Amino acid sequence: MILVLVEQDGGQPSRSSLEAVTAARRLAVAAGVPLEAVLFGAGASGAAAALGAYGVSSAHVVEHARLDAYAPAAWGRSVAELVKAGSPSIVVAVGSDRGQEVLAYAAAMLDAPMAANCVEVRPGELFEVVRQRWGGSLLEEARLDGPVRLLTIAEHATQLEEAAAPSVVAVAPFTPTLSDADLRVRVVARVAPEAGKVSLADARVVVGGGRGVGGSEAFGELEELAALLHGAVGVSRVVTSAGWRPHSQQVGQTGTRIAPDIYIACGISGAIQHIVGCKAAKAILVINTDREAPIMSRAAYAVIGDLHTVVPAISAEIRRRQAS
Ligand SMILES: Cc1cc2nc3c(=O)[nH]c(=O)nc-3n(C[C@H](O)[C@H](O)[C@H](O)COP(=O)(O)OP(=O)(O)OC[C@H]3O[C@@H](n4cnc5c(N)ncnc54)[C@H](O)[C@@H]3O)c2cc1C
Repeated sequence: MILVLVEQDGGQPSRSSLEAVTAARRLAVAAGVPLEAVLFGAGASGAAAALGAYGVSSAHVVEHARLDAYAPAAWGRSVAELVKAGSPSIVVAVGSDRGQEVLAYAAAMLDAPMAANCVEVRPGELFEVVRQRWGGSLLEEARLDGPVRLLTIAEHATQLEEAAAPSVVAVAPFTPTLSDADLRVRVVARVAPEAGKVSLADARVVVGGGRGVGGSEAFGELEELAALLHGAVGVSRVVTSAGWRPHSQQVGQTGTRIAPDIYIACGISGAIQHIVGCKAAKAILVINTDREAPIMSRAAYAVIGDLHTVVPAISAEIRRRQAS
């Protein structure tokens, strides 16, 4: 059996978790073993039912009053208990903050090997993986040895793919044995994003702003373009360090990894730590005054010019076309 951790919110599996399910199903099909899932929190049963399309045959749902909110050690303990009960050969999660943290706890509790941010998995006698290091700028081959191997799959490294034949998911509750120590770290409050705003990680269009935007007040131009394109605003670390925008909008190695259809990068030079976060974009449109900026090498389209002229001009053209 292969076990996959699926993150969900309000009864919907996260898109990046479905990438991990896709990767896990390929391993399960190759090994001829069933694919099981584990989900946490209110709404987990609904999200579990939706996994049939991705080939999950059964799901363990942890709907525990103390585990509705994220609690990494307790979630890790639950995964470790499921491993002891079901003896999966592989445990998979997406390489999100939560996926890394929960599997790291579970691996430590099980004294089992774990590899983070895998882009390729070659099971077999040697069990080799290729994993991203240094924010994806280096690929490393590694071998995992043990009766159970824990892997996270690098976000946006796997194309979503439904199973050839959908299955009906057998959903069963699971109650872990927890101690107070397992709940020392837990989420105590949740701040909902502004109503109507598209999440940065899932946005199909992202309008990015860097130092070239010049200040917090000038982000109105980028907000307007993002709203016209039903997208989200993302920023470089210079922008969050200056306090112009919150860290939740940072794209990059130490921020969010995005995979939009188009990333419109305005006044951003393209440092490697930023590129790590946006390289999964299908296309990048660069707006920059410097034709030599490193990000140009990643651009499918570029406008050499002042973003304060170019961005309002694009918005005005979109509004004109929408009105006609
Ligand atoms: C450990 C570590 C982690 C990091 N993590 C991240 C991360 O997660 N995300 C991240 O973004 N960075 C990260 N960084 C920082 C990164 O190295 C860069 O410093 C940062 O990305 C640069 O931001 P920038 O492109 O906005 O600024 P700059 O490099 O200063 O580039 C500004 C660009 O704006 C252009 N410009 C200026 N005025 C205009 C104008 N009016 N119109 C159009 N273009 C204009 C300039 O030509 C230039 O290309 C990290 C660094 C370290 C060491």
